[in-house]
Amino acid sequence: MTLQLDARQRAMLAEMGVRLFEPVDADGAAEAAAPVDHVRAPQVAAATTPAPPAASAPAAAPLAAGVPERILAPLSGPVANMDWDALADAVAGCQACGLCQSRRNTVFGVGDRQADWLIVGEAPGEMEDLQGEPFVGPAGKLLDNMLRAMGLGRHENVYIANVLKCRPPGNRNPEPAEVAQCEPFLRRQVALLQPKIILAMGRFAVQSLLGSAEPIGKLRGHVHQYEGVPVVVTYHPAYLLRNLPDKAKAWADLCLAMEQVASAS
Ligand code: URA
Repeated sequence: MTLQLDARQRAMLAEMGVRLFEPVDADGAAEAAAPVDHVRAPQVAAATTPAPPAASAPAAAPLAAGVPERILAPLSGPVANMDWDALADAVAGCQACGLCQSRRNTVFGVGDRQADWLIVGEAPGEMEDLQGEPFVGPAGKLLDNMLRAMGLGRHENVYIANVLKCRPPGNRNPEPAEVAQCEPFLRRQVALLQPKIILAMGRFAVQSLLGSAEPIGKLRGHVHQYEGVPVVVTYHPAYLLRNLPDKAKAWADLCLAMEQVASAS
């Protein structure tokens, strides 16, 4: 099996902690026998995505329905008709919950407003609160490496946003009332962006988008839907930094997402 990765993608996968199989002989016998993390290749590479790794694979994840799609009532209120700039201003001035009192900056989102990919995380942490940009701390470095391994970048065909636009003090978990207050902002971001895929990272992104409290491990491997947009569920980068073996599963999730984008192109 021929690997089609360039040096940069190999380096990024290595940074993710994902090891690739490479045959040591023409038959690929060593590849078949290698007892290391399995990494699968997408069935189809997106036109804008450099060829991903061809490597030994677990069974392909089913491109089937996930949890039943929630049918949400149409977004109402002023947010429903805002353009990007008006929405960013609304977030910057938001005082709908107590988080506005402790935040230093709101964190609206970053990236290409015409991107195919929307990455949804949980909430700003300390660095994000300071800089006003999502995923700029250690978890963000891993996310950047994950994006690079797919031939993407935070400003290249990707938009990154969080469920909460303000930092919960001490990085505590978001409270349901905070998620509910912030939800229209993310929903409007999805409507404006119309991405080809949403990558929901971690349980708060999953709960907010899919309305499911099932563990990530049960929801990953399927293509779900949010407002008509395909959603792939994966682990949060901060979790992956603490649980290195699950990086291979995260790579499988990214491959599923790449397949989905390619099939929609
Ligand atoms: N974790 C998140 O979920 N979002 C960020 O922006 C940073 C860390």
